[in-house]
Amino acid sequence: MSLRPPRESVVDRFLRYVRINTQSKEGESRTPSTESQWVLARLLVEELRALGASDVRISEHCMVYASLPGVPALAHVPPIGFLAHVDTSPAVSGDAVNPIVHRNYQGGDIVLPGDPSQVITVEQHAILATMIGDDIITTDGTTLLGSDDKAGVATIMTLVDMLQQNPDLRRGTVKIGFTSDEEIGSGIEKFDVEGFGAKFAYTVDGDAPGEINHETWSARLATVTFHGHSTHPGTAKGVMINAIDAMASYLTQLPADMRPETTEDRVGFLHAYGGTMDVETSTVRIILRDFETAGLNGKERLLRERASALERAVPGLRVSVDVIEQYRNMNDVLKDYPQLTEFALEATRRAGLAPRTRPIRGGTDGSKLTFRGLPCPNIFTGGQNFHSKLEFNSRRHLEKTTETLVHLVQVFAEETR
Ligand SMILES: [Zn+2]
Repeated sequence: MSLRPPRESVVDRFLRYVRINTQSKEGESRTPSTESQWVLARLLVEELRALGASDVRISEHCMVYASLPGVPALAHVPPIGFLAHVDTSPAVSGDAVNPIVHRNYQGGDIVLPGDPSQVITVEQHAILATMIGDDIITTDGTTLLGSDDKAGVATIMTLVDMLQQNPDLRRGTVKIGFTSDEEIGSGIEKFDVEGFGAKFAYTVDGDAPGEINHETWSARLATVTFHGHSTHPGTAKGVMINAIDAMASYLTQLPADMRPETTEDRVGFLHAYGGTMDVETSTVRIILRDFETAGLNGKERLLRERASALERAVPGLRVSVDVIEQYRNMNDVLKDYPQLTEFALEATRRAGLAPRTRPIRGGTDGSKLTFRGLPCPNIFTGGQNFHSKLEFNSRRHLEKTTETLVHLVQVFAEETR
């Protein structure tokens, strides 16, 4: 069956959304953490209404909800949801994103014109070899692209567009959700699972085309605080306990083979990513990641043991380690819903891609939703190099992602009896 095309191409949508700065910000108590996320969220509300979606609303926490009622004959098909987050990572500037479309890519490294030191190399990106003839979308090298997760937003919006242009498609009700503050981990708490109304959902927030994720890290955050003793450095002998030095020696004693840059696949890590430094008190925030709870426990134990050892080595120094759980491996729940992954793989196959599953070395909004009763695997977006100036995606990747979503709503209807 050949489908009528969307009113607007997924690439045009994507290019419009990435130009809006929606960086979230750590350490803010309100949701959304930044005003700028409202700009994109409100635009999406307008666009959903213009496309004829039902029950379009936006919450006080910048969560957008919409519904596309299914054909009446398929009322028995459970409502299926699609989610993407509007914010981008605080790690790299998202201000004045200037997307560049490299048309009809013919191979070779891609030098980003705004900062020629930023190069997407063939050596580091095997995927480039599969992208000959494609239109590759990068930044100018001075910001992130925000494909994470505006690729998800753009493909879901194009799904809505496609379903509206093709009302005869046999499908159940589709629910749409756009969330804020995913990158800082706090937004999804404010998502109204009940009001959303889907029985199952998918986040569209993954990477390589064809990849479905039903497994995420289990994740904890440790805040390690070094309590020293400050004094005038001129009269410090035998008195000062420098919390900065203590923190430095703590960090250098953590195993080098347990870092993000030395691990891959199913191997977890410890990652110190921020903190504060003062002689009196220094703190470092360290994330702990592992697919297995036992592995995570081991990493937490290591942090505590090294803290005690340092206290013993430096008289007068006190080191406290506070650990909180961030999210859990969603496969603990999704293993009971294998059909969700199967349906996504089948839709991927129908889109002409090579379907496969991969554990995701990160978390998704879906991890938390899954534990809140909304089972939620993750679907690729085609994006690469998230949270980086080298982030890229492409016309074909965005189109194939959209096509997969359109197939998925049909597979879901076919397979539900
Ligand atoms: Zn994301």
